[in-house]
Amino acid sequence: MDAPAALVVEDEPHIRELVTLHLSLEGLGVTQCADGEEALRLATTETYQVIVLDLMLPKLDGLTVCRAIRRSSRNSDTPILMLTARREETDKVLGLESGADDYLTKPFGVRELVARVRALMRRPRQRLAEGVDGVIEVGDLRVDPAKRQVTIAGRATELTPHEFEVLLLLASRPGVVFSRQMLLNKVWREDTHVTDRSVDTLIKRLRQKIEPDNESPSRILTVWGTGYKFTDA
Ligand code: CA
Repeated sequence: MDAPAALVVEDEPHIRELVTLHLSLEGLGVTQCADGEEALRLATTETYQVIVLDLMLPKLDGLTVCRAIRRSSRNSDTPILMLTARREETDKVLGLESGADDYLTKPFGVRELVARVRALMRRPRQRLAEGVDGVIEVGDLRVDPAKRQVTIAGRATELTPHEFEVLLLLASRPGVVFSRQMLLNKVWREDTHVTDRSVDTLIKRLRQKIEPDNESPSRILTVWGTGYKFTDA
């Protein structure tokens, strides 16, 4: 059987070589390229198990490439890890329905990169834009989107509609970091009166309801300077 294939798209040679080396060491057959046009050409002719895609690229930027890949048939379901140079870009990466599954901000450690790639390849892809149908179970926490019901160890927990939406969004993509702005856009949508503070307040209330110990949360984790993620441990 052929090795699982990875596409690495990065115009900075050192980073490209580094990523390629470490994914190869993980047993992946890596194809590398340095610009967006070439990336798109490769993605329409070959099928990959994972794509690592830099945001700022010559010819076509990473977001454009990402959206095009999602529309193309061959890799429309391939997990995509975006590399960004600045933390401020992450809202753009995840917030605009680009189709990226996760991102890493440069500079990143190779261990972190490998862990993210492994996690992406392991879990079934679930696009952010799509609704969540299945029941999510993490430990004794159970989230049922159809019944809009949350139980902990079999006991129903009452959540407000916004609390439920935030929990569902986070729990449907374990390990993926959601910025406050992104949670605002997703959960509060057109309501312009809410602020980043509203998100923090809601998370606090949510933790009181679902965390075994809300002083040291084990389910909804804070990612300093960015936002929140659901545990993928
Ligand atoms: Ca770049």
